[in-house]
Amino acid sequence: MDAAHIRNFSIIAHIDHGKTTLSDRLLHRTGTIATRDMEAQLLDSMDLERERGITIKAHPVTMTYAAKNGETYELNLIDTPGHVDFSYEVSRSLSACEGALLIIDAAQGVEAQTVANVHLAMKQNLTIIPVINKIDLPHANVAQAKVQLEDILAIPGDSAILASAKEGIGIEEILEAIVERIPAPKPTNAPSLQALGFDSFFDTYKGVVTHVRVFNGELKAGMTVKLLHSGKNVEVKEVGSFNPKPYIREKLLVGETGYFTANIKSPKDVKMGDTLTDSRNPSPALPGFKEIHPMVFSGIYPINTADYEHLKANLAKLQLNDSAFAFQAESSVALGFGFRCGFLGLLHLEIVQERLRREYNMDIIATYPSVVYRVTMTDGTVKEIDNPAFLPEANYIEKIEEPMVKAFIICPNEYIGDMMALVSEKRGNLDHTETLDSRRVMLTSLLPLNEILIDFHDRIKSITRGFGSMDYEHATYSQSNMVKLDMLVNGESVDAFSCIVHRDKAESRGRALAAKLKEVIPTQQYQVAIQGAIGGKIIARETVSAMRKDVTAKCYGGDISRKRKLLEKQKEGKKRMKSFGTVNIPQEAFIEVLKA
Ligand code: GDP
Repeated sequence: MDAAHIRNFSIIAHIDHGKTTLSDRLLHRTGTIATRDMEAQLLDSMDLERERGITIKAHPVTMTYAAKNGETYELNLIDTPGHVDFSYEVSRSLSACEGALLIIDAAQGVEAQTVANVHLAMKQNLTIIPVINKIDLPHANVAQAKVQLEDILAIPGDSAILASAKEGIGIEEILEAIVERIPAPKPTNAPSLQALGFDSFFDTYKGVVTHVRVFNGELKAGMTVKLLHSGKNVEVKEVGSFNPKPYIREKLLVGETGYFTANIKSPKDVKMGDTLTDSRNPSPALPGFKEIHPMVFSGIYPINTADYEHLKANLAKLQLNDSAFAFQAESSVALGFGFRCGFLGLLHLEIVQERLRREYNMDIIATYPSVVYRVTMTDGTVKEIDNPAFLPEANYIEKIEEPMVKAFIICPNEYIGDMMALVSEKRGNLDHTETLDSRRVMLTSLLPLNEILIDFHDRIKSITRGFGSMDYEHATYSQSNMVKLDMLVNGESVDAFSCIVHRDKAESRGRALAAKLKEVIPTQQYQVAIQGAIGGKIIARETVSAMRKDVTAKCYGGDISRKRKLLEKQKEGKKRMKSFGTVNIPQEAFIEVLKA
């Protein structure tokens, strides 16, 4: 299709505002899928994604639309994950588009999650079409949604389309607006092919399938393309699009979106956001490329040691469709053999764990997450430590530096004080504040990544009643007084619970962890001591008292020697359990503690 008849767009929405329902409507209205297929909710099919309200993987879908002006258009819907962990992916997917539909629930109004993504879209200069959805609801408040659009997002309220994805109202207007308001793609002035690889997945038969958007020139089978950032030349085997099933095309032209395959075995060979160009006559790379590195590490262990190989195979499978996920073998005294895994952030970590449990049916344990510390030794060598177990003895350490992030927090004016308190509680430094409009401010601050890992986002949400939002970018490393906190269960350090914390926070963290562990470790047949320690010094203690199981209950009256025998047996059992003390910590305990 010629570029003038192509529109590339994505959909931005807060969870539950109707992104999936509307996507399905658009696919249906353009005849891309039949009504009977709609049940499947094609664009957003993983349970986990549904629950979290994010899309991890979705194919760009090509629709054909006959507009009122008599012309036929190719509309490409490019889906994006909607979370800060994946902000680089979001920005890459958005940069494949010229416009975005912004869905707002008429009953809920503009919500915080939306704000960061709208800002990303605005940064990419996308044309935004606001859609006020669910106008069929009795408590829909269209006027308020319009005011919020203007006040919070600086988007004219009158430009909004009123819709009900559920009832099929406004669908035609939305399609017309996509054609009329979103600009057609324009070629760059480069001498040859420039295409953006914005996602990839693994297909057993085809190998790595990369989602691409052509910005200049054309991409077709048989040509040799150079992946500019990966530094590889590959021969294109197949190009095509999704409707929503993949279909082969002769070539992809300027502005078109689809996929290509080549002889690529591992998704790691195609860097996210890479530029493809003609190997014989290369063009410069498209702007915006960044290397992605795992920022958060955690150990993942099979609960049953016999599952080790199985887990390894499944991690490799997961990695095939998630090139940002990294893993390598490690072992733990408490947990045996497992894997050190690297993630983009905590949500990414949770997603991988959940997928292992649900899709692959794996019983696993995950250790306390850690960021990557830069440790300078007294002999001048520098080590990168992502596992508390490998933090050298304090007297060999010259200094420890931790990763910092530049965080942007947007909140309504009345919460500034609370936000500043939160930033300082998290060892952050407020850099400056900016007034965004009559109601909101943006606080820019420098914070340790370690501190925002666990509950920072949730805290912001609860303080601001859901209206605060946070986005961040990685900043520098900064020297910090970090120590290793060990958690001892019955005197034995459970390396899975060890963590590197700031000295000032070690005691409260130790106490909190001990208290939390006490809560989640079920009563055992023996007393369990839970302690927090720095070096050799105990800084916190809790005790789970013993439960004495009445093993003699079944012996009414009867002979005392039999009772004694049973009691002896119980004692032996206790001994054995004690020596395996840590084994009795249930998997939920780790998750609960992680979330505490
Ligand atoms: P997503 O999380 O943004 O993908 O939202 P969904 O499309 O899954 O919609 C969330 C819920 O809102 C579902 O129960 C939908 O049936 C419902 N919903 C979506 N659009 C409308 C609408 O226009 N009107 C009403 N009343 N409900 C809607």
